[in-house]
Amino acid sequence: MPVEVAAHAGFCMGVSRAVEKAEAMATDGIPSCTLGELIHNPEVIRRLAERGLEPIGDPSEAHGRRVLIRSHGVSPQVLEELKAAGNEVLDLTCPFVDKLHRIVEEGSRDGTPVILVGERDHPEVRGTAGWAHGEVMIVASPDEAEQLPEMEQAVVVCQTTFPHSKWQDILTVLETKVKNPDCRCTICNATEIRQKEAGELAARMDAMIVVGGRNSANTRKLYDICRSACPRTILVESAAEIPPAFANKDSEKIGITAGASTPTDSLKEVVTRMSDMENKDLTPTTEVEANNDFMAEVESTLVRIRPG
Ligand code: SF4
Repeated sequence: MPVEVAAHAGFCMGVSRAVEKAEAMATDGIPSCTLGELIHNPEVIRRLAERGLEPIGDPSEAHGRRVLIRSHGVSPQVLEELKAAGNEVLDLTCPFVDKLHRIVEEGSRDGTPVILVGERDHPEVRGTAGWAHGEVMIVASPDEAEQLPEMEQAVVVCQTTFPHSKWQDILTVLETKVKNPDCRCTICNATEIRQKEAGELAARMDAMIVVGGRNSANTRKLYDICRSACPRTILVESAAEIPPAFANKDSEKIGITAGASTPTDSLKEVVTRMSDMENKDLTPTTEVEANNDFMAEVESTLVRIRPG
C-alpha cells in the first residue's frame, strides 16, 4: 500500500539536540536529572529514567546532581537557585529560546517594559518572563492586548511556538497601545511547517497516522488538523497501537506524520509496519525550520553551560 511520510515529521532541531545530549549523559556515570520532562514523550522519558536520568519537578529536588535544562529554558532565578545549591547545570535551552531570553534581558535593561505574547502557563513563557529587568505583561489574545494601558514604549516578543496569524492580530492591537514598540518576531516556525504539511498530506490520503505522545500539545494539534482533513486519522504512541485492521486494502494511501517530540525510531517503526520502507532515511529535517532573519541571529554555539 502506498505510504507517504510528511517531509518535516518528528524531532525539531531544539528537541533533537537536547535528547542527543541527554542520551549521552545518561551513560557517563555522573548522577544527573532533568528539570521537568525533557520532552513530551513517555517512551523517551521512560528510557532515560531507566538509565538514571529522572525528571524532577522543582530545583529543590536536585540534591547536588547535575541538572539538565530542557529546550523550553528557565529563568535566571532558577539557574541561580540550582547553582547556589551546588548543582552543576547543563543548559540545553533551544538556541531560539535562548535568543528570546537575550532580547528580553537586553531590551529591558533600562527599565523598558516587556510585552510577552504567549500562553501564561507555558514553561517557556514562565522562564522567559524571568529574564526581564522590569515589568512583564503577558498576553495571549487580541482581547487581552486590549486590556493593556497605553504606554510610551515596550519590547514586544513572542513565545517561539505561538501561531503566526495570532501574533499578527495581537500586534495590530498593540500598535494602538504602544507609541514606540520594539517588536521582534521570535517565532520558530518548526511547528507551523509541521502543521501545514500535515494538513496538506491528510487531504490527499485515505487514512492518516499521527505518531507521538498523547500528552504532547503539538502532537494533539497535528492530530486535530489531520482529522479535519481526513476523518480516518489515528494517534498512536508506537507501532504496536495501530489496530490490525486499520488499513487493509492494498490500494489505500496512508499518510504518516509525527509531533516535534516524537523520536525518529518511533516514527520509523510505524513506517516500517505500514510499508516496506525500512531503509527510508527519516533523519529530521532541520535546516529550514526557523524564520531566516531570526535564525541568522542565533549564534552557532548550540550546547553550552551558562557561566556561573
Ligand atoms: Fe526550538 Fe523551535 Fe523546536 Fe521549540 S519548536 S525546541 S523553538 S526548534
